Amino acid sequence: MRRVVSLAAALLGLTALARAAERPTFTVGTATAAQGHKATGYLEVPAGVDPGLRIPVVVFHGAWPGQILAIVSGAHGTEYASIIAVERLAERVDPTELSGSLVLVPLVNLASFEQKVPHVNPVDGKSMNRFYPGRSDGTQTERAAYAITKNVVEPCDHLIDLHGGDLDESLRPYTYWTKTGNAAQDAVSRDMAIAFGLDHIIAVTDRPKDPATSRYLDNTASTRGKPSIAAEAGYAGRTDPEDVEILVHGSLSVMRQLKMLPGVPSRIEHPVWIENVRSVPSEQTGIFYPLVVRGQVVEQGMKIGYVTDFFGKTIFEARSPTTGVVLYVCAVPSMRKGDTIANIGAIARTAP
Ligand SMILES: [Zn+2]
Repeated sequence: MRRVVSLAAALLGLTALARAAERPTFTVGTATAAQGHKATGYLEVPAGVDPGLRIPVVVFHGAWPGQILAIVSGAHGTEYASIIAVERLAERVDPTELSGSLVLVPLVNLASFEQKVPHVNPVDGKSMNRFYPGRSDGTQTERAAYAITKNVVEPCDHLIDLHGGDLDESLRPYTYWTKTGNAAQDAVSRDMAIAFGLDHIIAVTDRPKDPATSRYLDNTASTRGKPSIAAEAGYAGRTDPEDVEILVHGSLSVMRQLKMLPGVPSRIEHPVWIENVRSVPSEQTGIFYPLVVRGQVVEQGMKIGYVTDFFGKTIFEARSPTTGVVLYVCAVPSMRKGDTIANIGAIARTAP
């Protein structure tokens, strides 16, 4: 079984090599790079029912044939550590030592970044990681998703989507690995998650299987046969160097795993595998007080925070629905009924 999987994975790789070798140049949006060079440009999202958008893109076309990897961040424009990480990657990668091609999209949600609005695109109020594969006649978020599907996802062989804790989320770093059921593809994406190197990996099995309703960016790649992962680091508006660096380091390590860069990937061979993520919503609007910190291990039923009214009376006590690790906890006192107090990850007994 293992040998069959490896052979199929190798065939996937060979197809990619053949495709990349044919190209004297590599173009994404308005950016065209010659072999051994880097170029910058934009993905042009035309105006429609609301204004258009120019999403910055950096392309590297390697001196040698190889895989095509896309790395995208800033779907949520205030998850700053992930955006800065891709800015650093754009400086750090040397196209003369690259095999294959690299597409970097550091900031999808420009309006969120500029206006400091978490979670959504303030132009249309939609999350820019929930409307894939997008539509050409939709609102700005949907048209941007459509442009990314056509210009970034479809040409690539592999994809990494970077996120982090948003302005109101105190998050510990982790990687998402989606098990699609395609054994050859899942073996490659699992290797990407291991090579990314974060010590907690969430194994996801409940993503949509239909490419027409893929919803998330990494799932848009997965449902099109392209091994992909998502990774998160950073929290609450901060750009701590260690959070930025683990995303840069993880991306470079995956590039080594995919033979795009020389050197050995730094694999995390025994990560903590999370098999189930339980969200804890607030049942009341008021002032939130956390009783746990990001990364803390909690037991089922443990009080993890509480909400008071504006006169100091406790109106809701939040308890953990499972034993597990606090993946993130709300970082600010603002609490609205239905908003997330924390996400708790239940730890798997065995590696998937
Ligand atoms: Zn995000």
